[in-house]
Amino acid sequence: MQVPSHVEYERATSVEHALSLLSKPETRVLAGGHSLIPMMKLRLAQPEVLVDINGLDELAFIALHGGQLRIGALARHADLLSSAVAGECFPIFHDAEREVADPIVRLWGTVGGSLCQADPSEDLSAVFAAVRAIAVIRGQDGERMVPVRDFHLGPYQTVIRPGELLAEIRVPVLPGTGSAYQKVARRVGDWSVAAAGAVLRLAPQGSRGGRGGGQPPRAGGSGGVVPPETTPPVIESAGIGLTAVGAEHFVAAEAEDFLVGRVADHDSFAAAGAIAAEHCQPAADQRGPEDFKRHLVAELTARALRRAAARVIP
Ligand SMILES: Cc1cc2nc3c(=O)[nH]c(=O)nc-3n(C[C@H](O)[C@H](O)[C@H](O)COP(=O)(O)OP(=O)(O)OC[C@H]3O[C@@H](n4cnc5c(N)ncnc54)[C@H](O)[C@@H]3O)c2cc1C
Repeated sequence: MQVPSHVEYERATSVEHALSLLSKPETRVLAGGHSLIPMMKLRLAQPEVLVDINGLDELAFIALHGGQLRIGALARHADLLSSAVAGECFPIFHDAEREVADPIVRLWGTVGGSLCQADPSEDLSAVFAAVRAIAVIRGQDGERMVPVRDFHLGPYQTVIRPGELLAEIRVPVLPGTGSAYQKVARRVGDWSVAAAGAVLRLAPQGSRGGRGGGQPPRAGGSGGVVPPETTPPVIESAGIGLTAVGAEHFVAAEAEDFLVGRVADHDSFAAAGAIAAEHCQPAADQRGPEDFKRHLVAELTARALRRAAARVIP
């Protein structure tokens, strides 16, 4: 089936107008349309009314405000890729956006659509989980905030209720952090076979127990004893997001817990990668068998962590 069933079309002129249109049954937001339209053609989605939000410039912004990076749901992939402020605060966004599809998809596809589609292979879902973003959801009764780590209920399912829309994503910007994203795809522009995003917050050099901690760092593994002047900093917090490998809420929680309080060295990162690989649930498919995907998770997680650590700006 290549033709959508009959559908009504409404173009929203404001967020309030969109919300009033969405209050009717069987309506669906139309953003970039790069996931929804193909699903309608295949009759996997059969909304009765499409509410086009493409005219809502009030949802198309990227700005630093009050210690948070704020990204409107209608910001396009290309906007995020070209945003200097987003790249400075979180290089992980530019790493990931360079790998999302191709320029045509990036010019139309939106950040909000990527999150709301809740495809297990969507790169930005893992990225926003890694940076511990907050989703701002609007309905006719007002606004609610949901951590992105709680936003996805499962494949193609989110916490967005009928009548609501995702308005914005907010990311707290903290000093001493670095971030990176590493993806393997079968060819340029393809969906991930597997990918990993990492965000690290390191204690300042010299405070071996971490910020306010005072405890000595846990051993990093088989790295051996190193002189104090070359001791790598301690990890205060870690965020790890995984794409396309069945990680619950796109998060490698066990690997994150393992890293906190350890020295930021290659042994710690390799061990965290192994833990992430052990705890995810990749499915064998046309992109590869399960053991190959676990191998990728271990390697890509370690690489993303190493790169994130190297990018930390004190
Ligand atoms: C050829 C191709 C290759 C691709 N490759 C990749 C890739 O490598 N990596 C990757 O991550 N993605 C990839 N994508 C997906 C791309 O990122 C899409 O842009 C994204 O899936 C959906 O964004 P959209 O704006 O087009 O959403 P739409 O298709 O318009 O909407 C998707 C879903 O989200 C809902 N929705 C949209 N916006 C909102 C909102 N603000 N509030 C509530 N609900 C909303 C819609 O109702 C719909 O259910 C690819 C897509 C294509 C066509």
